[in-house]
Amino acid sequence: MDKKIYFTPGPSELYPSVPEHIENALADKVGVISHRSKRFQEIYAAATNNLNELLGLPNDYHVFFFGSATEIWERLLQNCVKSKSFHFVNGSFSKRFYEFSLGLKKDASKVNADFGKGFSVEEVKIPEDTEAICTTQNETSSGVSMPVEDIHKLRDKHPDKFIFVDAVSSLPFPDFDYNKIDAVFFSVQKCFGLPAGLGVGLFNKRCLERSEELESSGQYTGNYHSLNSLAEKAKVNQTPETPNVLNIYLLSKVTEDMLQKGIHTIREETREKAAIVYDYIEKSKNFTFAVKKAEHRSRTTIVANSEMSSVEVNQRLAEFDMAVGTGYGNYKEKQIRIANFPAHSFSQMQELVKNLKKICN
Ligand SMILES: *Cc1c(COP(=O)(O)O)cnc(C)c1O
Repeated sequence: MDKKIYFTPGPSELYPSVPEHIENALADKVGVISHRSKRFQEIYAAATNNLNELLGLPNDYHVFFFGSATEIWERLLQNCVKSKSFHFVNGSFSKRFYEFSLGLKKDASKVNADFGKGFSVEEVKIPEDTEAICTTQNETSSGVSMPVEDIHKLRDKHPDKFIFVDAVSSLPFPDFDYNKIDAVFFSVQKCFGLPAGLGVGLFNKRCLERSEELESSGQYTGNYHSLNSLAEKAKVNQTPETPNVLNIYLLSKVTEDMLQKGIHTIREETREKAAIVYDYIEKSKNFTFAVKKAEHRSRTTIVANSEMSSVEVNQRLAEFDMAVGTGYGNYKEKQIRIANFPAHSFSQMQELVKNLKKICN
């Protein structure tokens, strides 16, 4: 039996109520029900209504389900961009978003920032003819986050362009003004504390209209999950394919729990827990901030440079039944990444810091 507490940046710890929800799902045979049944429609409606309420989405927003966030990169570009997308690239995930656009034979351009750095958004020159600005609000590989106000400023400055936001490893923490963005998406194995295998995309009406327009002009928007096929089925609380019913069910339950707790409490706790970790890193003899600019430091995926190899940190942490994420790619040994998701409690975070202090000061 694995008794470890995982602070890995996704998959990560399950939200504390998930085991009970899984037991209930088995007892109620959720794994057996048809995706064309009334029971599924109720589950679908509960999940999407709860998300609407939790995030405070405007009325013209649609919630659609995908296989993963990786799929959503492709669907967004395929459905809402004719040829020109612009990307803020400062790590592995934002780079892949950009590469997906190139892969779809779009004319993608980008601005780069070094690993561990963010952007002075107002100074970035965005080509006039860009259709969509693609941002990664929380770059999970480096722990750099783009302040929500910076994303809102993009809309103020470029009202005609689509603003797409990858908030895969931060939602529901960022308090977006959804009137200033057009699409945002996440995967459930990050901050929603669920097993992997479900991506959730939130799209405004403008995205749907754009997709329809491109489709009628002859652009291929995909057979599997075109936005229009999703919207068509969503009208009756269904999906085009047989979806991950169990995970949609679990999402409906976890969002219910989150609503009960309250989004303000979840956000406040996230800030407080992040402060515990950052205070420790500042004083530590082994760790230093991987992100130099305080305003760019992520609250949900905290990255630190480590003198001790991350592999050794984890070997020693294992004695306390805990695990953190190693660094990403080239930084595997030199950095650690600590997930600070709603599933991680205040006392678990304190315990983690206490153990890190014992191990490497
Ligand atoms: C994890 C992650 C993804 C990819 O999510 P999948 O569920 O693996 O498709 C995309 N963007 C960011 C920022 C991520 O952290």
